[in-house]
Amino acid sequence: MDGEKQVGHRIDAQALWRQLQGWARELGFSQIGVASPDLSSAEPGLLAWLDAGFHGGMGYMAAHGLRRARPAELVPGTLSVISARMDYLPRDLGAAARGADDGSGVDWIAAEAAAQADPQRAVISIYARGRDYHKVLRRRLQTLAERLAAAVGPLGHRVFTDSAPVLEVEIAARAGLAWRGKHTLALAREGGSMFFIGEVYVDIALPPTAPVQAHCGSCSACIAACPTRAIVAPYRLDARRCISYLTIEHEGPIPVELRAPMGNRIYGCDDCQLCCPWNKYARRSALPDFDVRERFDAVTLLELWRWDEAEFLRRTEGSAIRRIGIARWRRNLAVALGNAARASGDARIAPALAAALPAADGLLREHIEWALAQAPAQACAQVPARVPAQVPAQVPTQVPTQVPTACQAASQSGIEAMPSSVDSETRPAA
Ligand code: SF4
Ligand code: SF4
Repeated sequence: MDGEKQVGHRIDAQALWRQLQGWARELGFSQIGVASPDLSSAEPGLLAWLDAGFHGGMGYMAAHGLRRARPAELVPGTLSVISARMDYLPRDLGAAARGADDGSGVDWIAAEAAAQADPQRAVISIYARGRDYHKVLRRRLQTLAERLAAAVGPLGHRVFTDSAPVLEVEIAARAGLAWRGKHTLALAREGGSMFFIGEVYVDIALPPTAPVQAHCGSCSACIAACPTRAIVAPYRLDARRCISYLTIEHEGPIPVELRAPMGNRIYGCDDCQLCCPWNKYARRSALPDFDVRERFDAVTLLELWRWDEAEFLRRTEGSAIRRIGIARWRRNLAVALGNAARASGDARIAPALAAALPAADGLLREHIEWALAQAPAQACAQVPARVPAQVPAQVPTQVPTQVPTACQAASQSGIEAMPSSVDSETRPAA
């Protein structure tokens, strides 16, 4: 993309903006906004986060350096960034909890809390239960860009969604779609935080939309709810402690002291969102793409443990889950099964774990051995291979073995309503 272009020279900018909004709605986006590509004021925060090592093993975060905060360096010629929000709560979320076909009307937060509290259940982050969102957003953002190109003439553009070199939350905040919550995710008055964000970098100057005010106020429910204390301060996340990072991005062993707090979460974690008062306003998607697949809202750990690699690949075809591969998938399941064995005493778990030992590689073997060490002794009576001496048989004392669910933590911290600083003027309509 090169050469400066001003939309106003060829077409009425306001009319174009109205058209863009209409196309975005047709394509399933709830809201769009426009930000300038000058994100220079975000650079010190990005550098401090990287300097602290909070990105963990996500080397690509550091590799892109300040290009993440400089859209015009990443895509030369960029004059504006269109930020788009797509709500993702599945249409049928919670349906499994009440045995219905359609989850609309179900208290989905209560259904999620019930799943977390059942140690046998496998908890998969809500956003990952349907079709791979990368595919859904990318295709629709591309269509949006093509419609814009048809209206304005030749258009240099590039679309991104959840792409490493883009400061998505920062851009969304500047474009007025959201503010950054204390959990560091984007948060909107009209949609909570259960949405995806995507961007279209364009080489035309669109009028920027106004940022919104932050509405976290004095609330700190997400910080209290985080099982692994990954939100080390408001707006500051140590990804190395975050269950989303550990279960999805992290390749090696899960740190032993974080295994018990992972509970039954095997892919991602929604706790800091489930407790957020603004998610009362989270919206269900109109798109079938995000409908729950493979009973990912109701499946048990033991059911998933029985999958071999071929079944994993078949069942996760077209899903974001497939990206983590069988090794991380089974590593995560082993940890969750260890936690389930400790919490439930279910005698079926230890034999199922032990049966996988002969074929396990070093990483999985160590996690299975840890998991076996969590099971009550009587549950291991028929398990031939017991835990080697170097594997800690008990969870380290500084880690609680009974981790409150997100909703329990929020309730214990006394935050069940909106943050005290959020008044009726700033509340969205229920
Ligand atoms: S996703 Fe889970 S582990 Fe990560 S910050 Fe939120 S609550 Fe903590
Ligand atoms: S839980 Fe509270 S502090 Fe955290 S993001 Fe939501 S409103 Fe902000």
